[in-house]
Amino acid sequence: MKNFYGKRILVTGGAGFLGSHLCERLLGEGHEVVCADNFYTGRKANIRHLLANPFFEVIRHDICFPLYIEVDEIYNLACPASPVHYQFDPVQTTKTSVHGSINMLGLAKRVRAKILQASTSEVYGDPDVHPQPESYWGRVNPIGFRSCYDEGKRCAETLFFDYHRQHKLQIKVARIFNTYGPRMHPNDGRVVSNFIMQALQGEDITIYGDGSQTRSFCYVDDLIDGLIRLMNTPDDFTGPVNIGNPGEFSILRLAEIIIGLTGSGSRIRFEPLPADDPTQRKPDISLAMEKLDWRPGIHLEEGLKKTIEYLRQFADKGK
Ligand code: NAD
Ligand code: UDP
Ligand code: UDP
Repeated sequence: MKNFYGKRILVTGGAGFLGSHLCERLLGEGHEVVCADNFYTGRKANIRHLLANPFFEVIRHDICFPLYIEVDEIYNLACPASPVHYQFDPVQTTKTSVHGSINMLGLAKRVRAKILQASTSEVYGDPDVHPQPESYWGRVNPIGFRSCYDEGKRCAETLFFDYHRQHKLQIKVARIFNTYGPRMHPNDGRVVSNFIMQALQGEDITIYGDGSQTRSFCYVDDLIDGLIRLMNTPDDFTGPVNIGNPGEFSILRLAEIIIGLTGSGSRIRFEPLPADDPTQRKPDISLAMEKLDWRPGIHLEEGLKKTIEYLRQFADKGK
């Protein structure tokens, strides 16, 4: 299966925010990349600059359906990640994590490819252990509005570990914490893009709840570096491993920083807190530091400046 140029790598969800950065990095490292995406939340614009590269191939494909191709590695990123989008069609969200993972694991089994799952800090739910180590089993509502995503991702982890135990598949599971950066969709609905777009357009900044809930924000380049390092770990390391930036900020503080960086006259407006919104989230990254020799290097303000520059084009166009 090896080709002359490097590895042949499948990135599902490759036209999304994280996927497009991953495709770009892998091509830059000399690999052949196949991007499979149904464009549910992804955009052609995210990968337009890669289309002229003969080692890049795009397939419009929903991973809930089987896919028969030949690859050496699979990064399984397909899944809407913003609460607004994953709650829009919750059954499809669970199908993507469960049926989609079964198909990608079946593919990996047939071609004996190594496969990495983009899991999430949501597997910890609204955590009562802080910061969250990988050994924590989480506190997740199985029947709430976030469950289609949280339980889907938890089931995907189960499937990965059962294919590993039952079929001796080489697996890697990354638990990704909130990540932000250029190519976030301007209407993505997640907090960083929402606040920046509101600030740039002089609209009220919408804080859900009192803004005391916390998140830890990782810049996309750091995250992609962590994912690639994880894929390249020795065969006996499967994870799950947390990948995120342990710097913890309240949502109110995030709003203040973004107002400061944009010089915006926006005011803060408080809105109701959605159900099951986690009150705190911060990764314990000791395992990633030990096994991947990885730690994030980009500070929040530095990363936010780059994200603001990217989103400015949409704000200027009135979106
Ligand atoms: P995104 O919405 O920008 O990207 C997801 C991509 O998957 C999109 O291109 C979408 O069109 C595609 N997709 C969705 N369902 C599909 C399906 N059934 N078949 C094929 N393609 C499909 O989100 P993102 O932030 O880039 O997230 C990528 C992955 O990382 C997701 O699996 C997400 O759960 C995970 N993750 C992201 C974060 C984060 O903060 N960005 C945090 C934790 C986990
Ligand atoms: N599958 C796929 N591509 C492949 C091989 C399998 O999409 O190259 C799908 C296939 O449709 C199947 C799923 O992966 O439903 C799980 O495959 P597996 O071999 O584990 O199970 P089985 O075929 O026995 O259901
Ligand atoms: N949030 C907010 N205003 C917004 C969007 C989000 O206050 O316009 C809050 C949301 O309630 C949550 C946090 O910001 O507490 C992070 O939300 P996001 O949707 O980015 O990701 P989550 O970590 O909740 O999946």
